[in-house]
Order: sequence, then structure tokens, then C-alpha cells
Amino acid sequence: ASTAQPVDVDPSKLVIQKTQDPKPLVDPSGLLFGRNFTGNLFPDPPPTKNPTEGWRAPTIQPYQNLSLDPATCVFHYGFECFEGMKAYKDKAGKVRLFRPDKNMERFNKSAARIALPTFSSPALIELISRFATLEERFIPDQRGYSLYLRPTMIGTQKTLGVTPPGSALLFVIASPVGPYYPTGFKAVSLEATDYAVRAWPGGVGDKKLGANYAPCVLPQLEAASRGFQQNLWLFGPEQYVTEVGTMNLFVAIKDKETGQKELVTAPLDGTILEGVTRDSILSLAREKLVPEGWLVSERKITMPELAEASAEGRLIEVFGAGTAAIVSPVRTISWKGQPVDCGLKEHEESGKIALRMKGWIEARQYGDEEHEWSYVC
Ligand code: PMP
Repeated sequence: ASTAQPVDVDPSKLVIQKTQDPKPLVDPSGLLFGRNFTGNLFPDPPPTKNPTEGWRAPTIQPYQNLSLDPATCVFHYGFECFEGMKAYKDKAGKVRLFRPDKNMERFNKSAARIALPTFSSPALIELISRFATLEERFIPDQRGYSLYLRPTMIGTQKTLGVTPPGSALLFVIASPVGPYYPTGFKAVSLEATDYAVRAWPGGVGDKKLGANYAPCVLPQLEAASRGFQQNLWLFGPEQYVTEVGTMNLFVAIKDKETGQKELVTAPLDGTILEGVTRDSILSLAREKLVPEGWLVSERKITMPELAEASAEGRLIEVFGAGTAAIVSPVRTISWKGQPVDCGLKEHEESGKIALRMKGWIEARQYGDEEHEWSYVC
């Protein structure tokens, strides 16, 4: 029997077949999330034939349609996982990724959970870095702009049997994006969803599988039909607050007895996605807020606890956290038909912590502050 290991993703074998028809650039002011794409995509070209062979040599090719047999397993059983990350341009014009190791770690965990092949994280980071550099003309060199990168993996085996896919395709597409709040923060109003559950312990809501996202659109639409920008996912009879739309959630609260200020986010217990922004905020909070007297907690927090704090004037601020917006301040949460005020004054669109977090994170994303989180391409 052969003892050869399957071939890993190998950046040294990269073949670049650049597009001969470069796309025109869209004026940055007209960029909408995920609508415009760069001229090239970066796939592992023909799917690997046999899991024991491993990944083929990667190529960067002109952006193009995929051609897949209708029996391909991704169409039937949802063998798909993805990542969302960004490339930024610093003042010197250098392209930078933000904590790509975190995205690759999560991508590998998602792939492994649905029996798709895993890969070497440093190798894929190097390839994504080469790709982002090749497409750098699409990254406007202004604050708030970036190139959204969407690494995706699908199972490509052509059989209807529910089995581990014998072949897979890994590709990355890129979309230039502008600031989430072009005219400054706009605090959002949420509706607490208690009739549908996004994730549960032992489930897969903590993985970035496409199959987790389609079922979230309907509750989102329902919230929108009642005038709310996002829905807040609750879990269990205790009504734990877990995530907001497709963002993690942070709550700044004062203790009833001691007045101790605490920044709280849900723990990684299977009911939330392990956000890179969440991790960055926790780390920054421990670095910068703890010395100011804050307590920083990864703990469960319930909707009744939040509503009580709000009624007693102890709810300082609430915000969502994710790659798209970095932070998204919350004005109110509608819970059982009643608004729960989240601590912002009428004229305010953001609380202080959300605002400071955005500044600290952007400083590292755009390389204003040299930091190990920033990966220079
Ligand atoms: N939760 C969900 C469900 C998400 O899809 C995402 C990412 N879009 C996040 C949280 C935030 O994760 P990140 O900070 O890595 O973007």
C-alpha cells in the first residue's frame, strides 16, 4: 500500500493566467456589498479526483462561470462552506490582510465538519495574498474601503449517494467594498426572534456553512416587514441572546449591586459563530478596557437580564460585531412587542465602546498601527 500523503495546497506551483480583458473600476461611491467582482478568480482548477491525491496546483484565472454536472453533491446536500475576510490598502499602498490565520483556521474547521478536505492554512494565506496583490487596483486607498474576499469550498462529486465528497473545488472571489456606514454610524433597531433558532449546542451553527444562512433569511424578512433592520437570535427557554443577524453581539452593562461595568459577549458553546471581530474586540477590551476598570466576560446573558438592566438605566450600550461593519450599534430591541432601550441618547448613533473599538481595529487593519494582526501581502 502507498504511504504517500495527499498533496497539500502548494503556493510554489501557482500558475497565473490573468484576464486579457481587465474590468473597468467602479467609482468607489457606487460600490454595493457583493455586487462587483474583480477580474480574476482563484480556484484549485479541475476538482481533485481522489481524496488521496490531494490538491492540484492552484491557478489564478479570469473570472468565469463554473460548469458543474446537475448531480454534483453541492446542489443536493449542501456540501459548501465559506469565509469572509478583507484586504486593505495602507498609506504606503501596501496590501494587507487582517488576521487571515483566524479565517483559515475557521475555514478548515467548517470543511472538516462536512467531510470536505482540509488544507495548509499558511499555504492558502500565501495564495490569497498573491491574489489580493494581483487585484490591488480594485482596492481604493481610502479609509473604510477594502477588497472583500470570499474563499469558498464545495463538494463536486457527481453522485446522489450521501457520502463524503470524493472531490472538491476551492475558489476565492473578490469584491471591492465601501464603508458599511458611508455617512457615519446609524444605530439599528432589532427584533428578538423567539420562534426560530439559528444554532444549538451540538449543531453546526458555529461553522460557516452555506446551509446555515438560507434559513435565516425568512426571520430576517419578517423582522424587516415590521420595520426592524436586523433580528436578534435568542436561544432556549432562558432566552439567551446569541447573535444579531450575521454578527456577534456585545453588551455593556453595569452590575445591579456593585455598579461594576462589564462588557459581555456569548461564550463559544456552539450557539454562535466564532467571529474574528469578536475575538479582536475581546482582546482589545482586555488590553485597553480592563485597565480602565472594566470586567470583560464571555458568558451567557439573557433577554430578561438585558431588559431589567435597561429598565434600571444600567444598560450602557449594545453593538453587533463582524467583518462587514466592524461594529454596528443597537438603539432598541423589540422583545415580546415591547421596545428595550439599549442606552443610546436620542442624538447618538453609537456608544463610546463601539466607536473606540472601530478606531482601534481600523488602525490595525489599515496598518496605521503596526501589529501582528496585520499581514502584509
Ligand atoms: N456570526 C455570523 C453568523 C456570521 O456569519 C459572521 C460573519 N459574517 C459573524 C458572526 C462575524 O464573524 P467575523 O467577525 O469573523 O466576520
